[in-house]
Amino acid sequence: MEMLAVPAFVLDKERRVIIWNRACERLTGVAAEEVLGTRDHWRSFYREARPTLADLVAQDRGDELDSLYPQAARSSHVAGQLVAESWCDMPRGGQRRYLATDAIPILDEHGKLEAVVQTLRDITDEKAAQVALEQLATLDGLTGLANRRCFDTTLGAEWSRALRQQQPLSLLMVDVDNFKAYNDANGHLGGDECLKRIATAVASEMRANDLVARYGGEEFAVILPNQSLKGAAIVAERIRRRVERLAVPNGRGADEHVTVSIGAATAIASSDTTACQLVATADAALYRAKHMGRNRISLPASEPEHIPGARPDSPVAMNLS
Ligand code: GH3
Ligand code: MG
Ligand code: MG
Repeated sequence: MEMLAVPAFVLDKERRVIIWNRACERLTGVAAEEVLGTRDHWRSFYREARPTLADLVAQDRGDELDSLYPQAARSSHVAGQLVAESWCDMPRGGQRRYLATDAIPILDEHGKLEAVVQTLRDITDEKAAQVALEQLATLDGLTGLANRRCFDTTLGAEWSRALRQQQPLSLLMVDVDNFKAYNDANGHLGGDECLKRIATAVASEMRANDLVARYGGEEFAVILPNQSLKGAAIVAERIRRRVERLAVPNGRGADEHVTVSIGAATAIASSDTTACQLVATADAALYRAKHMGRNRISLPASEPEHIPGARPDSPVAMNLS
């Protein structure tokens, strides 16, 4: 046990530490002599008192595994043996580590508990790589916003939630105006820089539960859970103005800047409508905003809504400035 390459410790049936091997000393930064004979082993892993897996095995409290290790990627409770993965504070080591741990009971010939062995593997690097991969799979490489795949998944999930809770769900489709001309004048790399600035500007207007994604090319989509059409129009107008205030010259005239057009849509989810219809409605509104001259927001034609400052002569497509 002492020389095992795998960090391990052993508790007796009173849950006192009887072995704390070298690898465990290296992992925790805590010397064996500090913990041997005590029940202080948890202090090497956590700032606040809580049972380790070995304690749960020793006290036959395996049914508490899920509540004590809620973020455990894997946990099982087979024949008194517990397995879990979780973040540990590692107070002495100074850095949080992600540990994969097993706790196994050692029984005497009558099946009575003699001791519990807990092994620990530090898989922080693997966990970090997994998190990085997950991010790669959901983020857009150019802007760092959520990508199209993440948008699709999130919209589906929000639609189901809106259906369950009977809350409105709003969507904005944001498209950069005349971006082809911008690219032609500034080159593709110049265009990329512009897209990044617009992405940051759009994202800066979001609340915690909103999602802004790069929908494609020079189009962004914004999911606004639990937001009415009126609220969505206000957010849309803030985004439009924010981009305008970036004052990125568009090369079409001395005082001309890059702008966006935005289509908004809201639905109260029902079982006979789909999230795709919400996208189509926002898209149609966007198309109208383009048609009516760009640099404006537009709402669904059937719902002129009462937006503060809306001009009576353009009830469905407006620039509120
Ligand atoms: P509209 O106002 O009607 O939206 O006109 P537009 O020129 O923006 O629309 P169009 O769809 O004709 O052109 C979109 C342009 O966006 C063409 C494409 O080259 C450019 N684009 C799409 N993705 C990227 C990108 O990742 N980087 C750069 N630099 N340009 C992109
Ligand atoms: Mg476009
Ligand atoms: Mg465009």
